[in-house]
Amino acid sequence: MKVLKFGGTSVGSSKNINNVINILENYGKTDTIACVVSAVGGITDKLLLAGKQAQNKDKAFLETFEGIKERHFNIIKELNPEKHETILSFVDEKLNSLKSLLEGIYLINELSPKTSDKLVSFGELLSSFIIAETMKNRGLSADVKNSQELVITNSNFTKAEVDYSITNQNIRDYFKSASQNITILPGFISKSRIGEITTLGRGGSDFTAAIVAAALHVQQLEIWTDVSGMYTTNPKLVKQAYPIEKISYQEAMELSHFGAKVLYPPTVQPVLGLQIPIHIKNTLEPDAPGTIISNEETKSTSPVKGISNISDIALLTLEGTGMVGIPGFSKRLFETLSQEKINVIMITQASSEHSICLGIEDKEAENAKIAIDKAFENEIALGKIDPIIVETGLSIIALVGDNMKNHQGISGKMFSSLGRNNINIRAIAQGASEKNITAVINENDVKKALNTLHEQFFESKTKQLNVFITGVGNVGERLVEQIKQQKKFLKDNLKISLRVAGLSNSRHMIFDESGINLKDWKEQLAKGEKATLQGFFENAKSLNLRNSIFVDVTANADVADLYAQYLRESIGIVACNKIACSSEYNNYKELKRLSLKYNAPFLFETNVGAGLPVIDTLSNLIASGDKVNSIQAVLSGSLNFVFNNFNDKTKFYDVVKQAGDEGYTEPDPRIDLSGVDVARKILILARESGVEMNLEDIDNTSFLSEAGLKSDSVDDFYKTLIADEAHYQSLYASAKANNCQLKYVAKFDNGKASVSLQEIPEGHPFYNLEGSDNIVMFYTERYPKQPMIIKGAGAGADVTASGLFADIIRLGND
Ligand code: ADP
Ligand code: ASP
Ligand code: MG
Repeated sequence: MKVLKFGGTSVGSSKNINNVINILENYGKTDTIACVVSAVGGITDKLLLAGKQAQNKDKAFLETFEGIKERHFNIIKELNPEKHETILSFVDEKLNSLKSLLEGIYLINELSPKTSDKLVSFGELLSSFIIAETMKNRGLSADVKNSQELVITNSNFTKAEVDYSITNQNIRDYFKSASQNITILPGFISKSRIGEITTLGRGGSDFTAAIVAAALHVQQLEIWTDVSGMYTTNPKLVKQAYPIEKISYQEAMELSHFGAKVLYPPTVQPVLGLQIPIHIKNTLEPDAPGTIISNEETKSTSPVKGISNISDIALLTLEGTGMVGIPGFSKRLFETLSQEKINVIMITQASSEHSICLGIEDKEAENAKIAIDKAFENEIALGKIDPIIVETGLSIIALVGDNMKNHQGISGKMFSSLGRNNINIRAIAQGASEKNITAVINENDVKKALNTLHEQFFESKTKQLNVFITGVGNVGERLVEQIKQQKKFLKDNLKISLRVAGLSNSRHMIFDESGINLKDWKEQLAKGEKATLQGFFENAKSLNLRNSIFVDVTANADVADLYAQYLRESIGIVACNKIACSSEYNNYKELKRLSLKYNAPFLFETNVGAGLPVIDTLSNLIASGDKVNSIQAVLSGSLNFVFNNFNDKTKFYDVVKQAGDEGYTEPDPRIDLSGVDVARKILILARESGVEMNLEDIDNTSFLSEAGLKSDSVDDFYKTLIADEAHYQSLYASAKANNCQLKYVAKFDNGKASVSLQEIPEGHPFYNLEGSDNIVMFYTERYPKQPMIIKGAGAGADVTASGLFADIIRLGND
């Protein structure tokens, strides 16, 4: 004998019911079958909705009823294109009673738990009848047996308790004499000892099947549903979740208790004592192996078996210094809740016993508060305890695993990975058996939390990074192309899964939480919504993805102004924009502080020397205890380009223009030629060396002509370059006469910094610097005479993009 159960989706359409019938037909060749079925998918909800509408005097209940009727009629006709008259007339009769019941509710506008059970019982009664009759029509030896005649309960409506001695006897007696090979039983519904209709609780068809399996002592219970087993976590919220091959009864119970809907929690109870394994299978994919729940030892690599979540949780907190002295406090508290039939999902108590937190369903919070405040009225009046505090809009997440107790540091890992992602934890509890660790968090953090924990405990080898890139001009575009090209390499070699979750230029922005398809990102972006800086931030924030990184590829001060907001949301920052780091010292310091506080890295390697590892080298020197004495550097790729190409045969204007056209200068060349850009860079290096300094403190001797310095537009500036050619030629002539090269040099020495154009003699390390190359020489305590030198291409879109890329990857390796 075999016992199978098919859930709502499995019997939710004629196509799926045909699958079910095929499976049963196959099994029936070698075995007798008891098959428990749920209502057609979604019908229980619809019945309850119609009931609520009728109760609220809302005529819409009739429409809802018609919807229910049509759904069943369609299924019947599709399953039985020819012989459907008798099925239809039986179902029609049942539906008429349903309609009368709804009209009754409408008239008296009352829906008691007792009536509610009567109402929902129609769902399973109809589905079981339709399936059995269809099978008979197809010549199979099948019949329906109303489980209400077998499963007997108390009168605890909507979640009745089973009387096993009568129920087991009924089931055994019935199957002893049943003549059909396949028996279809409605799940979920039952009757009280005095014949009232009761139900076993939402999702209770699983339970009916377990009761039947246990009564008949079968070898195995099969639960057929719409997913291929019990997953490592909720597959609707975590794409990477996968089916668990084998799991213990205790683990399955804990996971379902904490929200894994695939199994109704009480289901394990009847089969546990008899050690009947439960096999969870997928009706839509019958060949998938599914999950076996049993007591068999499992060789699991991870001590954590699964992660689950329950939404709509309220947290009740009772506090008061007098709590310790109240006799039987906990007993009275739990009795009060039990009298109100309020289910406590989790409990935490501070070791001081001055406070206790309870997690219950949101919808029961109001009742709980009234009941507890009343029960402790006297103590509250005497000031021994405070009135209860209720917080709603919360969720519980739970890590589950039999072996967790034997492993150190699991809760540490759990809370630090949640903390790193800025997930605020409201309460924590660990089951006495150490088979679960639970935390209460905000509802809107659940998806991020599950993904973070799943990555931590089940995909520890890959880390997902979600980047939001603003500014896809020259450099940004190269960055996106590099990401596109390297995606696979990163996954295979560095175990980093890099996704571009948001992209923006100054006109449009687009988002995709599962990663923008980079094949045609330009076309997608062109069709994106209108871009705003704040809008971009809001989207990144509300997507709430783990390991989020904002990448600033602009030179825009307004973008830099938003860094603090990003960091406060634990979104890391990678910037080639120098403005933030060279702004007011206090602002720079504040960003560093926020980065630490919110565990959100703030990286800006490309601020100095484009892709050259200048800042990283400097940070490593400082971190390892070295001290910078002085820095000498040529830090402007643009100025280097200009002075390497300028001589007595070229014109200063032409060279500057060419540098602009080739992308070596900022759009406004004055930022480079005035020395401001270099001053910003040496400022950042000085600050990173540990010195408090501002841009005004840097000595900047300009080589520009007076008119050039005063020009107030880019056009004007270019005009002065033409007019003042003689001034620039004189700079060149002097250097040439002294056998020197012109280089724009930045210095930091003894806490002071300067930038200026200098004549560099032959033999000096700066003398032969070519093209747009940069060079930085760090003189430190460990490198006093021979400096640590970093030299190479210091400007250009490709190298800058690869510098940004390196910063992003650095976050992945954290
Ligand atoms: P049925 O109607 O077959 O009883 P349910 O909807 O009650 O099916 O349960 C199956 C659903 O449970 C899945 O579709 C899935 O969305 C949800 N679910 C939540 N957590 C888990 C988990 N850990 N493993 C599998 N499914 C889960
Ligand atoms: N039909 C019932 C429900 O939706 C029972 C079940 O499907 O298990 O809750
Ligand atoms: Mg279910």
